[in-house]
Amino acid sequence: MENIDYLIHAKWIITCEENNRILENHALAIKDNKILAIIPNNVAQQKYTAAQTEHYTSHAVMPGLINSHTHLAMNIFRGLADDLELMDWLTNYIWPAEGKWVSDELVYDGSLLAMAEMIRSGTTCFNDMYFFLGATARAAEISGMRAHIGMTIIDDVPTAWAKTADEYFARSLEFYQQYKNHPLIVPTFAPHSTYTVSRKSLERIKQLAHDYQLKINIHLQEAPAEMTASLAKHGKTPLQHLDELDMVTPQLIAIHMTQITEEDMEILQLGNPSIVHCPESNMKLVSGACPVDQLLKRNINVALGTDGAASNNDLDMISEMRSAAFLGKLTANDPKALSAISTLRMATVNGAKALGIHHVTGSLAAGKAADFIAIDLEQIETQPLYHPESQIVYAASRNQVTDVWVNGKQLLKNRQLTTLDEKELLQKAQIWRTRIKN
Ligand SMILES: [Zn+2]
Repeated sequence: MENIDYLIHAKWIITCEENNRILENHALAIKDNKILAIIPNNVAQQKYTAAQTEHYTSHAVMPGLINSHTHLAMNIFRGLADDLELMDWLTNYIWPAEGKWVSDELVYDGSLLAMAEMIRSGTTCFNDMYFFLGATARAAEISGMRAHIGMTIIDDVPTAWAKTADEYFARSLEFYQQYKNHPLIVPTFAPHSTYTVSRKSLERIKQLAHDYQLKINIHLQEAPAEMTASLAKHGKTPLQHLDELDMVTPQLIAIHMTQITEEDMEILQLGNPSIVHCPESNMKLVSGACPVDQLLKRNINVALGTDGAASNNDLDMISEMRSAAFLGKLTANDPKALSAISTLRMATVNGAKALGIHHVTGSLAAGKAADFIAIDLEQIETQPLYHPESQIVYAASRNQVTDVWVNGKQLLKNRQLTTLDEKELLQKAQIWRTRIKN
């Protein structure tokens, strides 16, 4: 008998490995925060002595969901201004509110609220873009989540965090130095968009990202107006503008891409960046629909994100998967597009690929980190059950996520948060509501 830390018995294990194996009555053996083996329940009991054993007898165990595009602290602004056009919403509501209220305190409280929401809906890893990065990182350390934190660069929008491009770079590099060797927190670059970041700053980011081997996140071709303005100003699409700077590479994470020309499609195929699809935000703001099926058919990696809570309005990756699948089918005019399993892959292993951590997480396999969730499928809403992946994508709700583990640590136990105080977070939400409303 071999001594291990945890033995996790499950009714189903959805691996999200290349062959999309779904195993019945298997167990995860976990040692030193990693998956040691995935083997049948009865064999596991004979082979291992575990310090702790869990029986997820009516559950699917699957890789933790990866939310590949967030603005966590915007949870504080959820529901503040809805039902508006993108530019009206941004320039007349969101940017002024951010200008007035964003601070280290707001980002810390908003990020913690967002992390509690994410953990309760099965998300184990996020890819954020905001200000006061240190506050988000402190919140991530407390929550125990895997955190990719974007070092935001904007030229023309001064904030309380930084006033000029130079200040944005200085703050970002301070953050990079502090967190470059953290086991769960990964700094990335996050130029806001080609319409708010100059060519000079983009070139500087390209050099630094190359030197430090960092991913570059950017909002790209989110809505038709952005395309029109870019064509008028540069005679090219924003993607072509980045391509001219040699920035369309596997290091690039292009967020949204609802507008793609034929020429853009070729650039994407050659450059091989990752795309983050945010279907609910795109639908709510009527930004357009990313042609996900076409991208996947050309072997371009597409991950899934919720965007900020002010434009979604939740951080629920389970409902996001359903929206992605339905919108993907409608956009492709093909019910075979975005199958349940390919949509699950977008929310897990494709996210890990986009973030450059698929050797660590994103699927369940021996040697990978113990980042997994358990979803109880023996509920009225998901019975009878023929295919667990179909129930999760097309019928389940986030309330069926019962347990969440990140790097071998349990962050949600039978729906209870283990690292965060729900009552305290609700009080903080009330305090911010009172301040902002007055
Ligand atoms: Zn965004």
